Amino acid sequence: MNANHLRPHTKPTVLFVDMNSFFASCEQQDDPRLRHKPVAVCVYTGPRGCVIAPSIEAKKRGVRTGMRLDDARQRCPDLIAIETSPDRYRQYHIRIIDVLKRFSADVLPKSIDEAVVDLTRHQLTYKSMDEVARRIKAAIRTDVGDYLQCSIGIAPNVFLAKLASNQQKPDGLTTISPDNIDAVLARLTLTDLPGIGERMATRLRKGGIQTPLDLRYASPDRLKVVCQSIIGWHWHLRLNFGGEVDLATQAYKNMQAIRSVSAEQRQSVEVLEMILRTLCLTLERRMVHRHLFCQRLQAWVRYWNDQRYEDELAFSVPMQDGIELFQTICQRMVRYAQQHRRGPLLNGDVRQIGVGVSDFVAANDVQYTLFEDHSRKDKLRQTLYAINERLGGKHLIRATELREGEGLKDLIGFGSIKDLHDIEWDDL
Ligand SMILES: [Mg+2]
Repeated sequence: MNANHLRPHTKPTVLFVDMNSFFASCEQQDDPRLRHKPVAVCVYTGPRGCVIAPSIEAKKRGVRTGMRLDDARQRCPDLIAIETSPDRYRQYHIRIIDVLKRFSADVLPKSIDEAVVDLTRHQLTYKSMDEVARRIKAAIRTDVGDYLQCSIGIAPNVFLAKLASNQQKPDGLTTISPDNIDAVLARLTLTDLPGIGERMATRLRKGGIQTPLDLRYASPDRLKVVCQSIIGWHWHLRLNFGGEVDLATQAYKNMQAIRSVSAEQRQSVEVLEMILRTLCLTLERRMVHRHLFCQRLQAWVRYWNDQRYEDELAFSVPMQDGIELFQTICQRMVRYAQQHRRGPLLNGDVRQIGVGVSDFVAANDVQYTLFEDHSRKDKLRQTLYAINERLGGKHLIRATELREGEGLKDLIGFGSIKDLHDIEWDDL
């Protein structure tokens, strides 16, 4: 797995597992008093706080991701607001992935609450994919948490499996195969397809492609012209069982940003943090210019006594946002310091700070937006860079770049510019 193959493949052997209302369900799992009640997970629980993950019960009452808490309470007065506990979600994520790995060696986490289980190489082991899906649901309930539900989509490729998982929530089980794909697509609009936002839909409509069925039956050449890139060809392959185009990775490359720290700078933790953040934003700028996202992050701190702190991690969702990279590094530094019972890693002994990113994914090539709708955020970032370049300076900056104290708030799974526009991430 983890390589594209462009052989036609029509058998539904790819499972896409999407945990339903994941953050809220984890909270309800750990605190039975929250079960069967409308719960809203928020970064802040003040009236101006924002709902980032409503529970299944809250969704039924009209509470949506991105709503302000006071608006959500108008619709649902007994809404229980709780603050995020990212470590809890990470722990559940790890346990769920462990369960999935019992069913296939080919498991690929796609985000904190989604994973691909590829059974293509296990067709002799499993006679019925439906049955595997039901066993996975049962195993998550019995071995991870009885309040955790998931929707599973089954299809011949990752894209269609993800689309299938979207068809029924919560606790869904849907297969898309050559037998029923036209019936499924006939019920959907273009923007129901993961990876197609408003802009792409407009472009398609201008090219005479009004519906998902039009997209499926348009010729590859026409799609290439309408989409103005190879992406059109990818859409043809996805909807016609032409193979797998959503698991590609690029050859290894690496970008680094390193800064030596002066005697004056190392006296202030704030200045050291600012340097670290600048390094992350430098890498972000380079990635934006090259249209790349990274899947691996390295960070290191060198001290005067030649000691070295080194950290490295892989992302399940490709990253480009410098503030998110910065927050990730800081969180892990804090955790490292706690675990090893030592003082802050950014201190008066720092000589050099470095950050590196690698395992790049081309923004246009791999439609990472299939898996988590970062597309609006990423477009905004691209637009900010374009405007700043035209104006010849940094005239526009994002809200998070202004806010000092909030830099360390753990915002797992959410964009750093969430306040600048409506959020569309659903079903976390
Ligand atoms: Mg989900």
